[in-house]
Order: sequence, then C-alpha cells, then structure tokens
Amino acid sequence: MTDVDIEKENAAIAAAYKELLKISYRTLSDEDKKLIRKAFDIAVDAHKEQRRKSGEAYIFHPIAVAKIVAYEIGLDATSIAAALLHDVVEDCPDYTIDDIQQLFGETVARIVDGLTKISSLNKDMNVSMQAENFRKMLLTLNDDVRVIIIKIADRLHNMQTMGSMRPDKQVKIASETLYIYAPLAHRIGLYNIKTELEDLGLKYTEPDVYHDILNKIEDSKEEQDAYIKQISDLLKTSLDREGFDYEIKGRPKSIFSIRRKMVKQGVSFDEVYDKFAVRIIYKSKLEDEKFHAWKIYSIVTDHFRPNPTRLRDWISSPKSTGYEALHITVMGPKGRWVEVQIRSDRMNEIAEKGYAAHYKYKQEKTKDDSLDTWISKLQEALENPEVNAVDFVEQFKLNLYSKEIFVFTPKGDLKSLPKGATPLDFSFSIHTEVGMKTRGAKVNGKLVPLSHVLQSGDQVDILTSDTAKPNANWLEYATTARARTKIKSSLKEEKKIIAEEGKEILRRKLKQLKITLNEKSVNELVSYFKLKTSLDLFYRVGIATIDNTMLKDFASSRSNTLVTFIKDKIRRKQGVKKEELEKDEITSKYDMLVFDKEEHLSYKISSCCNPIPGDPVFGFLSINQGIKVHKKNCPNALSLQSNYAYRIMTAKWIDSSQQEFTAVIKMTGLDDLGLVNDVTKVISDNMNVNIKNISFDTNDGVFSGKITVVVKNNNLVKKLMDKLKKINGIEKVRRV
Ligand code: MN
Repeated sequence: MTDVDIEKENAAIAAAYKELLKISYRTLSDEDKKLIRKAFDIAVDAHKEQRRKSGEAYIFHPIAVAKIVAYEIGLDATSIAAALLHDVVEDCPDYTIDDIQQLFGETVARIVDGLTKISSLNKDMNVSMQAENFRKMLLTLNDDVRVIIIKIADRLHNMQTMGSMRPDKQVKIASETLYIYAPLAHRIGLYNIKTELEDLGLKYTEPDVYHDILNKIEDSKEEQDAYIKQISDLLKTSLDREGFDYEIKGRPKSIFSIRRKMVKQGVSFDEVYDKFAVRIIYKSKLEDEKFHAWKIYSIVTDHFRPNPTRLRDWISSPKSTGYEALHITVMGPKGRWVEVQIRSDRMNEIAEKGYAAHYKYKQEKTKDDSLDTWISKLQEALENPEVNAVDFVEQFKLNLYSKEIFVFTPKGDLKSLPKGATPLDFSFSIHTEVGMKTRGAKVNGKLVPLSHVLQSGDQVDILTSDTAKPNANWLEYATTARARTKIKSSLKEEKKIIAEEGKEILRRKLKQLKITLNEKSVNELVSYFKLKTSLDLFYRVGIATIDNTMLKDFASSRSNTLVTFIKDKIRRKQGVKKEELEKDEITSKYDMLVFDKEEHLSYKISSCCNPIPGDPVFGFLSINQGIKVHKKNCPNALSLQSNYAYRIMTAKWIDSSQQEFTAVIKMTGLDDLGLVNDVTKVISDNMNVNIKNISFDTNDGVFSGKITVVVKNNNLVKKLMDKLKKINGIEKVRRV
C-alpha cells in the first residue's frame, strides 16, 4: 500500500467513527463519548496490523458492529465500547482481559470476556456440535444479555461481509446463523436483524433458491406497489377524515419466509399469496394508542372484509419479547388475502429495536436503570419460556439445564457439570488420568482450593503432577459419581499397596522377634490388636500405627498363649452375646478419645459409669482431676449437664489409624543451589504425607524453611525429619 492509500484509509476510519457517534440511538453524554473514544483508540491500536479477508483494515469491522449496536439495536455507551473492543483480546496478545478491566472497568471487561469466550470455542467442531455448545454457552452467559446482543451484531456484520470467504466456510457460518443466531435474535425481539440474518443465511446455504426468489420479488415489485397503492388510496380518505397522522407502507415478506412458506405448503412463488403485508404506522399519545388502533381497525374493516380467525391483538397482551401491534388479515382487491399491521410510532420502534426502544419510552429519565431492567427482562424471557415463546426456547428446554453449569477448558472447549461441582469433578470429567494427578486448579487464572465451587462461564485449568494422588479429603470435594468412584477405588488401591509394604515390614520385624509371619501368627496379631482383617493389620504396620514397641508387647504376651487359649475357651463356652461381639468391634475401631474440635487432651475415666471405647460420652471439667469422661447415659449426667453446662466438653471416640494431625517442621541450613528442590523431593517421595503449606526463605546465605504437613502418625513425622536432616546443607530440623 502506498502512503496516499493509508492516508485515505485513516480518513475513512475517522469518518466511520464520527458516523458512529452521530447515529447512536441514545443521547450520549460527554462521559459516554469519552468512553467510546477510549475504546476506539484501543481497538485501532490492537488491530493496526490486521486486515480482513476483503483487504480492508480490520478496524472497520468493530466500528460496524458498534454501529449496529448503537443504531439498530439502540444499546448504551457501555455496549458500544464493548462492541468496539469485542475482538481485541482474542486478536491481540498485547491486551488481556485484565487490561480491559483496568482501562474500562468491570462491566465492559465482563462483556468482552464473554465475547472472547464465545469466539474461542473450538472452531473445528462440526456445525451441530458447535451449535449445541453455543446454545449451552448462551444460557450460561445470560447474566449479561449484552454479550449475546453484541455477538448477534458481530454475526450480522460478518454475514453482511462474507463475500470474500471460502465457500465451505460461508456455508458453515451461514448454517450456524440460521440454527442459532436468527432464532436468538427473534427471541429477544430484534425482528429486523432476525430477518436480515435469515435472508443472508439462505443466500449462502441455498444460493440458487435465494437468487431465484429475489429476482421474482424484483420482477413483481411494480405490480405489488400498484396493489398496495390501491389499498392505501381507499384507506387514506377515511383516515384523513378522522385526522390521523400516519404512514402506510407495503412490507414485503422476507425471502427466507417466502421460501419457508413454499416448502411448507408445497406451493410455487406465485402461489404464495401473502408475500407482503400492509403496515399502518400512526402517531398517537401513549394513552390514546389502543383506542386509535381499534379505530383504525374499524376503518380498515369498513373497506375490507376481515378474516375473523386471523386477528391478533398484541396490544392488549404484548408478546414476551415486548412486541405490540394489531394484526388483521382482510380480503383485499382481486380477492386476495392481505395482512394489515396496525402500530403506533412507539410500537414500531419497539418492533425494530426491541426493548431498548420500549424502555426509551417508558423510563426516559432513568436511563441507566432502564437498561438494567431491560436486561433482566430479557433474561427472564430467556429463562422462562411462555406459551408464546418461539420454538427456540421450547426446543432447547432451558429449564432442563438449570441444574447444570458450563465451564471452559483452557483451550475453550465447553464442559457441562452439575451445579456445585468443584475443580476435582472437572478434572475427572476430562480424564481419569488427569483427575488422579490433580495437584491444584486455576479458575479464571487464579489459584483456588480443590473445594472451590465452580460457576458457569469459569475457565478451569487443572495443574497436575506425577506425584499427586487422591487422598481421603478428596471425597469431600468431589460431587460427581464419576470422580467419587475413581477416588474411592484409588484409595482402596493405595491402602492395598501400603498394606503390601506393611506386610514386608512386619515380616522383618517379627523375624527379629523370632516369630515367623504365617497364617497363624497373622491371625494372632489380628486378634491381639482387635482388628478385623489381615489387610487392616498390614496397613497399620505400613503407616506405623503399629510400631516396634507394640509388636514387642505382642511377642511377650504370646508366651502367655496358654492363658489366652483358656480364656478364649471359657468365653466361647459361655456363649458370647452378639451385642458384645459388636461392642468388641467398636472398641477396637474407635480407640482414641478426642474433645471438642478433635483435640487430644489428657483425661480420666470416671468410675461412676466406667465408659469404654465406642460408648457415647462427654467430658466434664472437674476442679481437681482435670477432664473426667462420663457416659452420656451415666446416672450423674443429667445433673452435671444441667448444673454445670459450661464445664461440659463434647467428646467422641475416633479410629486413631484414620486420624490425621498437623505438624509443623522448621529447618535451617546454608543456602545451597538445589536445596529447596531436595527438600520438596524428600517430602513428595514420602507416602502418606500431605503437605499443607510450605515456605522457604533465604537471607544472606542462610536458608530457613517451614513445612506444615498432615499425617496419620507421629512416626511418620519423625521419619520425615530424619530424612530432611540427611539433606546436604540442612543443619537443623525441629518440630514446632
Ligand atoms: Mn468480530
């Protein structure tokens, strides 16, 4: 391009911008104009290197979209700015959503973000898949309908300027337009845009049909004009006599709807009789509108016989889109049925611009308010399909999805999840492998805990690590059946692995105690530790709740087997009641007492009721003897609880092998390259240690670190500390 051309182009851009400000449907304040100017400047900068397929500078596209938004739809300055910026984040890496937020505030940023997300949906999907995704996404984004409206404007301009695109792309985009955007435009009351989208859609999906009908309309135009003139001449005399200020127009049916009629009724172009409607638009005060409409109705039916089955009164009960008008079909000249639409100025504007116009009339003074009301109205319309709602809503059954949320992968693919789903559900929905390796998650670029509840529209990025694996806490965060099943089976698997290791450890330790690991000794151990299965035994050895001392105790008790044998025999002879057996199980499982919020405190068992593990109990703060534990049904309980309620502590028995506690380890050393790496490796290599928090600090060559871990057993902390001590450079490791 030569310099002259660029100069010309710049002048054209400036002119287009000026035009935009001029044609805005709303009155723009100075502040509005400033906002739009800023958006324009950013858009010009962001797209400066870009050209459209047609060769023109890219910036003409956002300006055109903004014009549609400003004039044809009549939206506010915020929307105009967002329309100017709608492709900036997607096309220009220099600008992020955060930048937009900094520059234009949250509302504009949210709208632009919504628009960017729609665009970044996987573009290679086939039409129906993509339309399905669009549909879902539109439902999620309806918290600001402006996103959808600007997207429709974007699509309209793309359809208007699709000429230089590859034919297969044209067909794809046109099909999508017919499938999703036109019904959507209709649904929110943008009738003109809907009609234009449909006609353009037909132009690219069935070009022959489109051009055939277009030619026929042009050919018959003269005759049609004459026909309309005949009607309006007849009506004029009467309307003038009544002093109406009005306009009569012939409104040709759109190419798309003529085509639809031809297909539906199996008729030729000539046989479609209502190829146009007559529209009478009258000026009236708001309070006289309805009366005048019916007066005109009366005049029309004085001249032409009405079809009683074809009367539509959208004035007494407007459509859910806000559309108001009186439609009648009458027998016109030459025995042809003609539809006559009677609308006031105001109604006409609503029909063309939707609610924007509606609220311009209703609440002109509270302009900003009215937009919000409008948006929430639209949202209502989208969410609550009424009887008159178009097929779109019917077909898509919005309510069906109210229990679903829709979130995005980093690549922009859409995933549907149940309401309340967390990043864990999301990662398992991608792939089991991803789920299993989940280490953390980012939602909309920010790190969140795995328990974070996802919202529709969130973009979720799962961080994985090869050392990550499911733990019992995950079951609290996962809501989907898929995730829960996978986590449970993995936990079982993990228990098995630990148990296998535990079995080997046990074999070694028993050997030192001169005991052979076999079925007999295992059974003895199981009953000695009051466990249920050998798996429980191996597992406990694996996680070190059963340690050397305990095994030694077992070994010495074993020499007393004869006593045990006799005891057992007596017990069996007496016949143990089922109840007691069950109690035995409980006793063995719930072996540790904790108070209030699972605190470990020293206590004494009260002698009045002698509670045993598993009994429902409470703690009582005695003056001389610390905490005394009573059964809940202890004879003294009621009087203690009522007289000294403030001294009562809740208490419960827990399974100590499942108990987790937090330990804080502090260490110091000499700052050394790779030290941090070594430390983290030690921790992640240690099974069953769940790191909650980790912080490292180096100061003048001195390294200090703090690790908070969650473990099931004290021994594990000791082991971990031992390993940390062995790291080169570490000087001191201590527990806080
Ligand atoms: Mn665009």
